[in-house]
Amino acid sequence: MKSKKILVWFRNDLRLHDNEMLVEAIAKSDSILPVYFFDPSHFEYTEEGKINAENNSVQFLIQSVAALRNSLQRIGGNLLIINGSPEDRMPALVEQYEISEVYHHREVATKETTVSSNVEDLLWKLRINLKHFIGHTLYNKEDLPFPIKDIPDVFAQFKKKTERDAIVKGCFLSPETINLVDIEDWGEFPDHSSLISPDLIGGEEEGIRHLNGLFEEGAEIYARHNSRAANADKYVFSSKLSPWLALGCLSPRKVYWAVKNAERKFGTNPNFTHLILGLLWRDYFRFMFKKHHVNFFTDMISDVQHSLSAEAYDHQLKQWKDGNTGHRLVDQHMAELNQSGFISHASRLLVATFLVHVAKLNWIDGAIYFEQKLIDYSPASNWGNWANVANGGKDPRFKNAFDLDKHIKLLDQEIYDPSSASA
Ligand SMILES: Cc1cc2nc3c(=O)[nH]c(=O)nc-3n(C[C@H](O)[C@H](O)[C@H](O)COP(=O)(O)OP(=O)(O)OC[C@H]3O[C@@H](n4cnc5c(N)ncnc54)[C@H](O)[C@@H]3O)c2cc1C
Repeated sequence: MKSKKILVWFRNDLRLHDNEMLVEAIAKSDSILPVYFFDPSHFEYTEEGKINAENNSVQFLIQSVAALRNSLQRIGGNLLIINGSPEDRMPALVEQYEISEVYHHREVATKETTVSSNVEDLLWKLRINLKHFIGHTLYNKEDLPFPIKDIPDVFAQFKKKTERDAIVKGCFLSPETINLVDIEDWGEFPDHSSLISPDLIGGEEEGIRHLNGLFEEGAEIYARHNSRAANADKYVFSSKLSPWLALGCLSPRKVYWAVKNAERKFGTNPNFTHLILGLLWRDYFRFMFKKHHVNFFTDMISDVQHSLSAEAYDHQLKQWKDGNTGHRLVDQHMAELNQSGFISHASRLLVATFLVHVAKLNWIDGAIYFEQKLIDYSPASNWGNWANVANGGKDPRFKNAFDLDKHIKLLDQEIYDPSSASA
């Protein structure tokens, strides 16, 4: 009898832990073919034709894919590296290796879902099923206390009902062995310019190390918070977990259960609560995208107006991008973004507020620039947060919660304290 071979298409789920797709593929097949596609249209190239890896997010991605390949190799597996788009290369791949089914994780934003639909159509012509998994959120959509179409647009309501009525599931265990489809050549990574040495290194193992490091320090963080809070100088904790969460090197459930463990060890503290709140905001934006699709902010796109000439507009936008606006704090944060690909939530709110409400530029240009620069770029979180800052998100209460006047005043006075900004 013909053996069952499943192709496991890795995208933003670059991990072995808590990966239902991988666990099910192993359970339901005789052998699996794990694949990652480096789509050339997603990268900039140097004059020598190499991928420009000076961009922090490109570097983080390459490290994360390499780490996944190593982890798979450690359990007897491997990762096929394809230099090409899934649409161009998938059909030939499934035919060549006589694949019975393809598994992948479903995304929520337009670009990503379009790729899935295109591949699904191509596979359908070959009578092969593309199975969709959902593994990016803390709460599974079927565990929410409402169908997607009825998810409250108001974040506070979403949070209250979800925390009260839904449960966070346990994590799937990492597989211990893998039976591979027989392949001779597992492919080379695309040629790229040399990697600089960054603060944050991509990959599941590094992500878990970073996560565990936060809680080894748990008691100390708590003490620091309390002493500073007593001086009315609120310390806002930034976990810097977002790059690993964005590429799926860490699952949100893994982070959640690590926090719950830390709470058992050190007691509850505001930093732990803040981390879980962040995961809920992340889920909220993904579910909002799922609910409203492109309508999430189309009304706002047609609304955008400005009175500058094209030349003046481009000049101002470039000043903002280069960190050359003349506002010390905006410039400082933009320089940091350009250099490292990461700035805190408070800094993001500040530079976004400046672009939209002070320079009066089009928020879409700001969101596009963040998309290019952020090491943790994630469509729903980026576009959802930008829409909120531009007063066009779906949550009517955000408009009241986000104190625009305060932000602009602080910008004017250049006395911005990041702890005074909130989501
Ligand atoms: C204009 C703008 C653009 C943004 N673009 C992105 C983006 O592309 N990718 C991204 O992951 N986050 C984005 N955010 C949200 C947030 O700023 C970052 O998630 C956060 O700064 C990451 O730092 P951290 O890991 O230390 O967060 P922590 O405060 O430690 O929070 C823990 C985790 O919760 C999630 N989270 C926290 N706050 C938010 C939020 N408001 N929205 C969505 N998720 C949240 C993140 O995954 C984060 O890692 C954006 C915010 C703004 C204002």
